[in-house]
Amino acid sequence: MRKIIIVGAGQAGLQLGIGLIDAGYDVTIVSNRTAEQIRHGRVMSSQCMFGGALARERTLGLNLWDGECPPVAGVSFTVPDGAGGKAFSWASRLDLPAQSVDQRVKIPAWMTEFESRGGKIEAADAGVDDLEAYAREGDLVIVAAGKGDIAGLFARDEARSTYDKPQRALALTYVHCLAPREGYAAVSFNLIPGVGEYFVFPALTTSGPCEIMVFEGVPGGPMDCWGDVRTPADHLSRSKELLERFLPWEAARAGDISLTDDNGTLAGRFPPTVRKPVGVLPSGAVVLGLADVVVLNDPITGQGSNSAGKCAASYLGSILEHRDAPFDAAFMQATFDRYWDYARYVTGWTNALLAPPPPHVLDLLGAAGGNPRIARRFANGFDEPRDFYHWFMDPDRAAAYLAEVTV
Ligand SMILES: Cc1cc2nc3c(=O)[nH]c(=O)nc-3n(C[C@H](O)[C@H](O)[C@H](O)COP(=O)(O)OP(=O)(O)OC[C@H]3O[C@@H](n4cnc5c(N)ncnc54)[C@H](O)[C@@H]3O)c2cc1C
Repeated sequence: MRKIIIVGAGQAGLQLGIGLIDAGYDVTIVSNRTAEQIRHGRVMSSQCMFGGALARERTLGLNLWDGECPPVAGVSFTVPDGAGGKAFSWASRLDLPAQSVDQRVKIPAWMTEFESRGGKIEAADAGVDDLEAYAREGDLVIVAAGKGDIAGLFARDEARSTYDKPQRALALTYVHCLAPREGYAAVSFNLIPGVGEYFVFPALTTSGPCEIMVFEGVPGGPMDCWGDVRTPADHLSRSKELLERFLPWEAARAGDISLTDDNGTLAGRFPPTVRKPVGVLPSGAVVLGLADVVVLNDPITGQGSNSAGKCAASYLGSILEHRDAPFDAAFMQATFDRYWDYARYVTGWTNALLAPPPPHVLDLLGAAGGNPRIARRFANGFDEPRDFYHWFMDPDRAAAYLAEVTV
């Protein structure tokens, strides 16, 4: 039986590990945190996942929360006018509902699921020496450690990494008692030019249904304001202040909010980075990077968990198709290339949204308010970002599309 060792028990590592166990491989996942530590630790993400990524989880029987997790039925988009009102605002339903299960709920449950299906979990904060040992004892070592330091083993791909500095100051606030959006539940996305973005949507956390507030502040701007926050209560107050100052319609929903728990807040920043997929250890042994380790995008488009799940599914296909052939550097590069054929579009679109919107994007987003067809296409692009390249990313294609849909 071929032995595969995966470092990192996150979205990608566990999804791939469970897929491999089901296919008859001997799989060990190395985790630097126990299930208990994850469950009782700090929130890590807003992890809103769309239909395509959820379908890949469902294929493996990992959709354990369909009954309890509040569905996200659509996406709304609002740009304030700078005078307390809205320049434009529209919403559209998603073809398939999205869902956000707090990783503090999901990961411990998947760890249990992985072990119950025959996988082994080893507790270690793996370093290079550990990777050397895993490479000696296994047929394939995969590093799925997210933003962990060990990702530094994989060289940054200069040509594919657009930015070398963080592009947003990030913050999460998990709350109860946020008033529901009128109509249907949606990712309520607000773009405040020059300041940043705020989006909010329903989710399932350790204490039941909640709403997750996500702040993406332009560095140095007024939404880059978390450095002096010392307590969870301060973080909640700062979240409300931002809404009152920039988004009164969102503040109106947040009058009664309280934190889900003292670990329901997060603030940080990181540079979006694409890395080379093959890590070479001092001995010359090679290891393969997975998901955020190799393609780390800013959360502005909410793609990280979606992409992690799609990366895991893509790698699973590559490994199964490789059968008994050696897992050498050529295999690793080809496995990543297959995923990059998808991920390049996610990265390109996400990096584009971090820059000030060009005129053709403003034209499209403005026109969507009066044209449900455009709004629907934008909303469903979160599930299939490659579609943006047909009508959104390029000024000529945008003009052609606008001419077609507005006759
Ligand atoms: C503020 C914020 C909001 C986000 N919102 C969304 C969203 O709405 N939608 C979306 O799709 N994505 C979102 N993301 C991104 C998403 O959470 C990540 O892209 C996704 O979790 C990546 O999965 P992964 O398996 O690659 O890594 P992770 O989920 O980070 O898992 C890696 C695991 O490896 C462990 N580890 C690290 N180093 C070691 C080591 N040396 N040894 C052993 N274990 C190790 C870590 O503890 C962790 O458990 C958001 C991220 C942030 C920061």
